[in-house]
Amino acid sequence: MLKIENLHATVAGREILKGLTLDVKPGEVHAIMGPNGAGKSTLGNILAGRDGYEITEGSVQYDGRDLLELEPEERAAAGVFLAFQYPVEIPGVNNTYFLRSALNAQRKLRGEPELDSMQFLKIVREKLAVLHLDDQLLHRGVNEGFSGGEKKRNEIFQMAVLEPKLAILDETDSGLDIDALKNVAEGVNALRSPDRAFLLITHYQRLLDYIKPDVVHVLADGRIVESGGPELALELEAHGYAWIKDRVTPEA
Ligand code: ADP
Ligand code: MG
Ligand code: MG
Repeated sequence: MLKIENLHATVAGREILKGLTLDVKPGEVHAIMGPNGAGKSTLGNILAGRDGYEITEGSVQYDGRDLLELEPEERAAAGVFLAFQYPVEIPGVNNTYFLRSALNAQRKLRGEPELDSMQFLKIVREKLAVLHLDDQLLHRGVNEGFSGGEKKRNEIFQMAVLEPKLAILDETDSGLDIDALKNVAEGVNALRSPDRAFLLITHYQRLLDYIKPDVVHVLADGRIVESGGPELALELEAHGYAWIKDRVTPEA
């Protein structure tokens, strides 16, 4: 589903990704862990097609296509979803309206008919039920006055409605108390499916107590320096990231 090979990328003229290789199959959950500044968010942003990154080498295949050739909205329409580390607030824009517009924009690009408000509401109700959410978030402005936990829950809800094939969650766990964290994890677990893959970008191991990844990677200094099973996350928790530094070859 996602095949990244030897990806090099620069931000503001500085090389941040330095030969990153990653292979994700449908249905898999991959955790990307690593120290601050390693390039984790850069990876997510590049996959979503955000501005400001220059790819200098390497390739990204997604669903049999060259992902890097696609515009951000084409990527979204093709099923790539990036949840924000810091979700934006759009005061005055109704959450439900916003989400229907986003979904219809994607459907249009896929050549599917747009949904009217009744059809959309049906989907919304289904997803609320799957995620065990009540509908109070829907009637408010997009993230307007949402608590940290509500924003994250809303992200998971947005993801449920948009039904991505590749969901990238960047530090969705940051700043959450344990109940909110469990809530987010339950949402992700409810949305796991054989044809949907997840990239869980996280600094901390604790999210992985609730979402069991298939593969754990350590991203350090712009590369995947170690990959393993869930036990690798526990090892990181116990020993921190310092030992990883030995594996990062210094730049010439
Ligand atoms: P992580 O998510 O692993 O903490 P990031 O991908 O956010 O790391 O950042 C990797 C490095 O790239 C950091 O040194 C950061 O300062 C730098 N960086 C990221 N975005 C920008 C930007 N827009 N302009 C300049 N430097 C950036
Ligand atoms: Mg960071
Ligand atoms: Mg980050």
